[in-house]
Amino acid sequence: MSLLERTATRYRGLRCSAIAAELPDLLARAEDNAMSYLAFADLLAEQEQHSRDHKRLAGNRKRAKLPADKRLEAFDYRHQTTITKRQVNALLDFGFIDNRENLVFIGPPGVGKTHLAIGIANKALDAGYKVLFRSALELVEELEIAEMKGELKKKLAQLTRFDLLVIDELGYLPMSRQARYNLFQLVHSFYEYRSLILTTNKDFTDWGEFFHNDNVAVPIIDRVIHHSNIFILGGESYRLKQKTTG
Ligand code: ADP
Ligand code: MG
Repeated sequence: MSLLERTATRYRGLRCSAIAAELPDLLARAEDNAMSYLAFADLLAEQEQHSRDHKRLAGNRKRAKLPADKRLEAFDYRHQTTITKRQVNALLDFGFIDNRENLVFIGPPGVGKTHLAIGIANKALDAGYKVLFRSALELVEELEIAEMKGELKKKLAQLTRFDLLVIDELGYLPMSRQARYNLFQLVHSFYEYRSLILTTNKDFTDWGEFFHNDNVAVPIIDRVIHHSNIFILGGESYRLKQKTTG
């Protein structure tokens, strides 16, 4: 075994797989640039760190389960004029996540609520945050299954490992009392601890009705509203526009 092979094996054993893989190339760069010992030591560390960051972000992206590749860059503010690019860009320093605030996008179908939610989630992933996307339907089912197994607490603990949970299309489906209770538990465990993005077709004024003015639901709404940035979107459905113009 050559010295180079032995050294690469050592790095691999120390779980520095990026250094191990790139060692010949890194050595060549050091020689070509007549690097100082310190600069070379730093180059090795940088290589490993860079590769680990990259893997971490790729893992976060996979776990996020974004349902479609929607980018903010593709969002047309000439069509959707009830929110401005400035308002959306202001969210991208992710102060709202750091301050454990929520975003709520309210509006009729097709106005871009889910697009914005996924677009923001994408940027949050790029910035290193752990994100999870769920439709309200999926989430309610997931909580129900956990609850039936007596594992609701465990499930909530899993969910709060994410910095940001997107709940899409809240308010479309009728929910049992148990489902509302489970959702309340979720909102409770996220409150002032993690961030939510909600999209909904219901104005908050309708939510009492949606939740049957229930003594479980009203606190849910209060908690979501408290510490929320609420965006009320209107206008024509983009789907309809595409049908008629293209
Ligand atoms: P909502 O969630 O409000 O029902 P979506 O975000 O799913 O609406 O939008 C419907 C479709 O139209 C999606 O394919 C989305 O990418 C697209 N869309 C909606 N609004 C815009 C917009 N302003 N610019 C570009 N695409 C848009
Ligand atoms: Mg939607």
